[in-house]
This record gives sequence, structure tokens and C-alpha cells, in this order.
Amino acid sequence: MAVRFFSGAGSLERRWPRVRELVDEALDAATFVNGPLAERLERTIEGYTGAGHAIAVASGSDALIVALEACGVGPGDEVAVPVYTFFASASSVVHVGAEPLFVDIMPGTYALDVGDLERRLTPQTRAVMPVHLFTQMADMPAMMQAAERHGLTVVEDSAEAIGMAFNGTLSGRFGRAGTFSFFPTKTLGALGDAGMVVTDDDEVAERCRRLRNHGQVPNERPYVWDVMGINSRMDELQAAVLLARFESLDEDIERRAHLARRYDEGLARLHGVADPPSITDERATPVYYVYLVEAEDRDGLVEHLGTRGIETEVYYPRPLHLQPCFAYLGHRVGDFPVAERCARRAVALPLYPDMRDDQVDEVCAAVVSYYDRGRARLRAVQAGDAR
Ligand SMILES: *Cc1c(COP(=O)(O)O)cnc(C)c1O
Repeated sequence: MAVRFFSGAGSLERRWPRVRELVDEALDAATFVNGPLAERLERTIEGYTGAGHAIAVASGSDALIVALEACGVGPGDEVAVPVYTFFASASSVVHVGAEPLFVDIMPGTYALDVGDLERRLTPQTRAVMPVHLFTQMADMPAMMQAAERHGLTVVEDSAEAIGMAFNGTLSGRFGRAGTFSFFPTKTLGALGDAGMVVTDDDEVAERCRRLRNHGQVPNERPYVWDVMGINSRMDELQAAVLLARFESLDEDIERRAHLARRYDEGLARLHGVADPPSITDERATPVYYVYLVEAEDRDGLVEHLGTRGIETEVYYPRPLHLQPCFAYLGHRVGDFPVAERCARRAVALPLYPDMRDDQVDEVCAAVVSYYDRGRARLRAVQAGDAR
């Protein structure tokens, strides 16, 4: 039986009456952008995170652009970015006119390596963007100390990390600003693109509100543009879906954890061959946005699962320093060994609240069968009877 990499149809159907109610509200208000539901979602995210301000935007990528610019990052500045992350972490830096300073990651947490950051810093380095990938946050106390030592502004890319915490503080709440993505597959997902910036800084918040709306101060100076902004407002229909989905966020996170524990058990005997996520820092509160395995012969495993109808995603097959569009930075293979190793070994197995327990079992059985088959072949070769 096939296992999709992601599906949200079942849970959306269960919540449809509530979604419908909120969509009806949006239709009645007839505002569609910059409307009451997006505002309600902003207040909801402020309540959830404890942030002084939440500013709704059109995507997680835009949230990064708006947050960086609102923090004063621009031409002549370098922003330290992990070299192993989604493209938008680095492209946002270029979109505000600055340059990414790539930094290697830590094995296990996939977070920006603070030691490597300190080795690569230059006088132009103005900000650092820790990215919380897959399951657990970066060691933010260490990151904040390093940022303080070097006078760097911290903008957290929490696109994947809603609900994750470190020392009890939620992701997005350590830096001067933090950003979330509500891309459909994310832990809190819309039915299209949407994102959010959170900050305690009144000025940064004010600038974000302006920048997302072409640079215009809403309701104050209509059709006067003091600064250059972009069109990046959240539309009301996405806000309606997100408000409905937010009501079960905790439950969804719990369901994800349950499925992850089932994977942990199902794959336990593959240690050293296909390693499940290691949550070793007890200060970190994980959220299983994806279930990332580091696997021997990853491409062979992906193919094996594919022939059984099991979809996987390789996050991320090519680190950013080896992307054609960043060739101008002059990096080459070998510059970021930890990231390059992850790019060869990492694969995300399906994990989402709609998944059934027996589907996890099916994926585990397929993974185990791949390596058992491999071992059987290896034994045969060693015995000299393989032709
Ligand atoms: C998803 C994601 C983004 C971009 O979010 P979009 O809403 O898709 O624009 C940025 N950074 C990371 C780490 C992501 O996973």
C-alpha cells in the first residue's frame, strides 16, 4: 500500500465545519487581504508565543526578507547562515542586498555551528540567522552569547519550528525577530503560502507592518510611500484555515510525537546504518516536523522505498555553497564537511498527523528489509558464493 510523503486531507475534512465558519466570516467581511482574520491570527500567535508583536505576511520566505530589512540589514552587510537549510534562509539575505556568510552545521542537531561561525566571521558580519531544522532547536543560549560577543543581530528562521522550545523558551523568541512559515506541509499549515514575523521590538514590528504593505503606513498616510516595501500580506482565506488548524496544534504536535516514537521503535535495530533523529539535549523540547534519518546508501534506500510506493524527501541534497546561484561566493566541495555528509545521508520519512500507525510500521518494515537484503548479499559475497 502506498504511503504519501504528506497528506492533510483527512484532518481538514474533520475540521471542515470550523474552517467553513471562518471562511464564511472572511467572505462576509469581504476584505480578503489585511483583514480581520489575519489580524486575529496575529493576536493568536502573539498569545501562543508570548511575543509583543506578530505580523502576518504572505510566506515564510517573505517573513525572512521583511524581518531582515526591518532589523536594518542591507547592502554591505554579511549575514551568517547555515549552509545546510532550505534555500530561502540564504536567498532572503540576498533579497535585502546583503551577502550570506555560510557556516557549517553541528552533527545531530543540524544547527549552525557557533565555533565555525566564530572562525569565519569578518568585520562585515552584521547578523546571524540560526535555523531550527526538522525536530529540535539550535542551542540558543550559546548562539545568543556569541552574537553578543560579536555585536550581531539575531534573526531566527523558525519556519519549521513552531512549538519547539529550548530551556522552555519557544522558537522565534530568542532573537530580535523570529519567523514562521505556514506552508501546507509545515506543522501549522495553510492551504497555500503564508508566514509570520514575531518580535518584541516595537520599531522592528512597525517597520515590518510597513514593509509588507509596499512601505505604506496602514490607515495613516495612504498612497504615500516613505520606504520601499513589498506586497506581502496574508490573505484572509489562509488566515481562516490557519485559525481553524491552530485549535488542534497541540494535539497535532502530540500525534507527531507518537508517530516518531513508533518509528524510533521500528528502526531501533538499524543503529549505525539508518540513524533516527537523536534528541540528546534535554534542554530541547522537540517537535517532529519531519522524521529525518541519516542512512547508509541513502539513494538506494530511497529507490527501494519508492518501488514500494513509499514517498520520501531528501532534505537537502545539495548544500547551499554548492548551488549554482551562490557560485560567486567561491566555495568548493570540502569547505563544509558536516553539511556535505548530511547531504549524502539524510532522508525524511513520511510523518504527519493524518498518518496511521500501521503506515509507520509499513515504512519501518520496508526500511529494515532494504538493509536486511543488503546484509544477506554482503554475507553471500563474504562466503564467496555470490555471482
Ligand atoms: C519552509 C521554509 C522556509 C520558507 O517558508 P515558505 O513559507 O515556504 O516561504 C524558510 N526556511 C526554512 C528552514 C523552511 O523550512
